[in-house]
Amino acid sequence: MKKNNALVDSLRQETCPACGHHVAVPFLDPSLQPLATVAWPRSSGEAKSMQKLPLDFVSCVECGHVYNAAFDYSKVPYTRKPNLMFNKGILWSGHIDAIRKKILDRLPEKPVVVEIGHGDGSFLTGLAAERADGRYIGFDPNGAKSAEMPSVRFHSFLFEAKRHLPEFRPDLVISRHVLEHLTNPLGFIQSLSFATACIGRESELYIEVPCIDQAIKTRRTVDFYYEHNSQFTTRSFNKMLQRCGAEILMTGHIYSGEVIYAFVKLGRCPEHVQTAESARTFCDRIRESEGIIMEELDSLYKKGKKVAIWGGTGKSAAFMNRYQADARRFPVVVDSDPSKAGTYVPGMGQEIKFRDWLIEHPADVIIIPPQWRAKDIMEEMKQNGICAERVLIEHDGRLVSF
Ligand SMILES: [Zn+2]
Repeated sequence: MKKNNALVDSLRQETCPACGHHVAVPFLDPSLQPLATVAWPRSSGEAKSMQKLPLDFVSCVECGHVYNAAFDYSKVPYTRKPNLMFNKGILWSGHIDAIRKKILDRLPEKPVVVEIGHGDGSFLTGLAAERADGRYIGFDPNGAKSAEMPSVRFHSFLFEAKRHLPEFRPDLVISRHVLEHLTNPLGFIQSLSFATACIGRESELYIEVPCIDQAIKTRRTVDFYYEHNSQFTTRSFNKMLQRCGAEILMTGHIYSGEVIYAFVKLGRCPEHVQTAESARTFCDRIRESEGIIMEELDSLYKKGKKVAIWGGTGKSAAFMNRYQADARRFPVVVDSDPSKAGTYVPGMGQEIKFRDWLIEHPADVIIIPPQWRAKDIMEEMKQNGICAERVLIEHDGRLVSF
């Protein structure tokens, strides 16, 4: 392979919004520009004095996605100024009709359809006009507020996968020209897919975004402005979908290759649900056992047992903080490492003593939180003549004899 030091030098560690890869290279030299679509300045003076925002477009080496590494979502005032999309072009209308037909072909007789970012609402009401027996629900904080048709509802708030997917259980979720504005489109679709899998639903997703293949091919720069912080290539779009726990049913281009779309089956990620279930079980069990270990500790204290905790930092500090082994009831903390002696347990405040302290001040009970070292510590105790009635470790929600 040929050496290319200039390329090495261009390496940037950034996170790709489409595929999550962490290496990118510059795509355009950094520059400053004002907001291009959502600001709507009311005078020439206002327009000229608009704040200039950093454009720092980089390209992901894994998927070719182009994104503004300096983008800050809070700088885009979507809440005050709507993002108006011109939907009336003749060719454009034709494409929208074609897409609508594709969608209708996939919908059941009485569909539940959710659109995330419904804008002026025309796409959703267009669907509702064709298949009136369904329910059509739009979510857009800055979109149309009310619909004329009884089957259509518009909500002026953001769609939340974990709340609204179980509530509406849609057959189809639509998201058109939204993803390119998001900081984390990958996380957005992954959330839709995971939530769908959790509720055991077979929902589909239709997404549509601008595609910059032609812009790259024809060296066009006008696509790269602040609001479009995240620009899909055919490759980055597909790479994103492959990482979402979803099944890609169909993808294609419309509008002379300037727009890319896909239908995907959400929720094809049973292993994610299994992982979530085992994490939840762990969390529940620990919640139950937290009280048990705290009671066990308290009972040792109330019985007047002299307790020493072995280790003053890391796992031992975590143990004392989680189970509130405070300095008043459990003042004795020793460590194998003499360099830790004289320092204090983070959060709890016991002074850490070197383990030999136990030779002259024997403990009844020694608790060893770092149990992966417990055998070594037992050996260390034996060699140095340190004894105790019991040595305890944390195991399956209790303190047990080692
Ligand atoms: Zn990428």
